[in-house]
Amino acid sequence: MQTATGTTYIHNGRVIDGTGSPGIDDAGVLIESGKIQYVGPASGAPNVAKTAERIDARGGSILPGLVEAHFHATYFNILELEDLDIKYPVEYVSILSAVNAKLAIECGYTAARSGGCLFNVDSWLKQAIENDLVVGPRLSTSGREICSAGGLMDWNPEFRKIGMEGLVFIINGVEDARRAVRALVKDGIEWVKTYPTGDAASPDVNDHHTLCMTFEEMDAVVQTAHNHKLKVTGHCRATEGIKNALRAGYDSIEHGTFIDDEGLELLLERDVPCIPALYFEKASVLRGTEFGLPQNVIDGHQETLDGGIESALRILRAGGRIGLGGDYGFGWNPHGDYAREISFFVNEVGFTPLEAIMCATKTGAEIMGREDEIGTLESGKLADVLVVDGDVIQDVTVLEDRSRFIAVMQGGIIKSGQMTQTDHTWTNATKMG
Ligand SMILES: [Zn+2]
Repeated sequence: MQTATGTTYIHNGRVIDGTGSPGIDDAGVLIESGKIQYVGPASGAPNVAKTAERIDARGGSILPGLVEAHFHATYFNILELEDLDIKYPVEYVSILSAVNAKLAIECGYTAARSGGCLFNVDSWLKQAIENDLVVGPRLSTSGREICSAGGLMDWNPEFRKIGMEGLVFIINGVEDARRAVRALVKDGIEWVKTYPTGDAASPDVNDHHTLCMTFEEMDAVVQTAHNHKLKVTGHCRATEGIKNALRAGYDSIEHGTFIDDEGLELLLERDVPCIPALYFEKASVLRGTEFGLPQNVIDGHQETLDGGIESALRILRAGGRIGLGGDYGFGWNPHGDYAREISFFVNEVGFTPLEAIMCATKTGAEIMGREDEIGTLESGKLADVLVVDGDVIQDVTVLEDRSRFIAVMQGGIIKSGQMTQTDHTWTNATKMG
């Protein structure tokens, strides 16, 4: 991905640097050649050249670009699971994923960690973004997911006599588990996404208290993945499934819904980040009826929402790390609503705005393994910056309103917001990877 040339100076705003420390009023951020050179009080800023481009934050907020830590680029606001692997071809889904990637940038999300995708779309989407062919967040990829036979993702009825190879590897035993990871190694993905437990979406045979993989299968996934330097995460709701994942050596936990004392201890022991992805639950409760979800499914989502809120707060207060990502890409929880996750954590979970923003920036970058480059406003890092016309500490919901974004920058280039440099990002459109 190209970085800016020249100098940019952002001023007249309050810096929230993403580390969780209190904001700096009347701050200045100096960017040279796409990297942050100075962050601090404007009074202490080095001399800014007259030729520098200036961005007036209008008394608003200057913060790191946001990081979506549970991003499904290929989920195109689907209404049911069939939409994902049966109704539409991968060609069309790939195009839709590029549309979602652009939308994420428009929403201030300059980086994202995938939570699973169709086929190997993530890896190619990442290449297109890195080569500036399409606009999108810096991506940490995952590919096809892994679930045991009969588990949550093995929902396709046998009479259809069709596979699920686009979305998920259905495995039986450790040999299958290794085979699936080895296929992913060849795809070039970074995160292996698995299904240790069920979900409220499947109340009859795979609800949120059901296990969908054995410990041995999870262990085989981790051993094989780690051998090839891939990381492993999993959809973990049931208490025992969370502990199985942590004991098997998972590198992060998605949801962590019903974590108990022992699970919390295991989590803290290795400082494993948890991505609760609560807004999906909230949206399922709020809008489930409108979208035809059965009442027992909605009730299940309410239970996982309550459990997830309690667990997320416990983890953060115990010194653990929480990443924010809302599992967007369902009809009732569409792409573009990403920042609702942040507001939800402030208004309904009990995080302070500074904590929630830290989770949505610094921790997200750590989960991606890119904390040396992005995630906070610190000198030496890439200038992935969000400039907002509004006080995000006073009212965090301004992050949901992209009409108030003055600039969304990646590497010092304004990709979206009121000051968008439209042609710059497209000059490379004819250059192939
Ligand atoms: Zn997900």
